[in-house]
Amino acid sequence: MHTQAVEDYLKAVYEIQREQGKVNTTALAERLDVAPASITGMIKKMAEMKLVTHEPYQGVALTKAGIKIALEVIRHHRLVELYLTEALGVPLDQVHAEAEKWEHVLSEELEDRIDHLLGHPTTDPHGAPIPSRDGTLARPSRVRLVELQEGQSAAVAEVSDHDPALLRYLGGLGLFPKVRVTVIAVAPFNGPMTIRVGETEKTIGHEAAQYIYVTKLKSSLTKSGGPSE
Ligand SMILES: [Zn+2]
Repeated sequence: MHTQAVEDYLKAVYEIQREQGKVNTTALAERLDVAPASITGMIKKMAEMKLVTHEPYQGVALTKAGIKIALEVIRHHRLVELYLTEALGVPLDQVHAEAEKWEHVLSEELEDRIDHLLGHPTTDPHGAPIPSRDGTLARPSRVRLVELQEGQSAAVAEVSDHDPALLRYLGGLGLFPKVRVTVIAVAPFNGPMTIRVGETEKTIGHEAAQYIYVTKLKSSLTKSGGPSE
């Protein structure tokens, strides 16, 4: 088993790679909230363990072995989040912090039990896909809410789980996975968006809207009505 620090690094590399493509040490330092100097040492150590590669101009990338561990930790994290929400009723904005700890200590046996109890779920309570037991992760086609045009409708697919305050804010706007949204207006210069959430109009700032991923719906705004899913 690897240390908790190694697992956290691998998970962070995986997530940044998915969100931004390239992973540099600055982004890693920000994500892990550690000094850039200690990042360099850790990356070197992990390169020696053959978990990552680090090439000039290419940034940090996971090896096959690195990906396997990252996905295992992410599977633990997302299963635990769902378990805490569904089985224990823990509020959505609190499950992430708990899962950050559980993900490192969950045994394979408990993982299987939780998976079985929850009926082999494929997404966590924030809408993020749960990697399968054999280490594959579905990549559903989704875009950021901010990429939608006026008049376009979509279903909320995933909400970033890293910031509890953001989760509470988005929850207050009714933005949960599967909820339908339609863009009414977008203010210029990265201004706020006016969106319809269910039946009510809401305003959301550009910054917060960047953390919401949606699945576009075929039917766009003509009148209300049409397929709801
Ligand atoms: Zn989480």
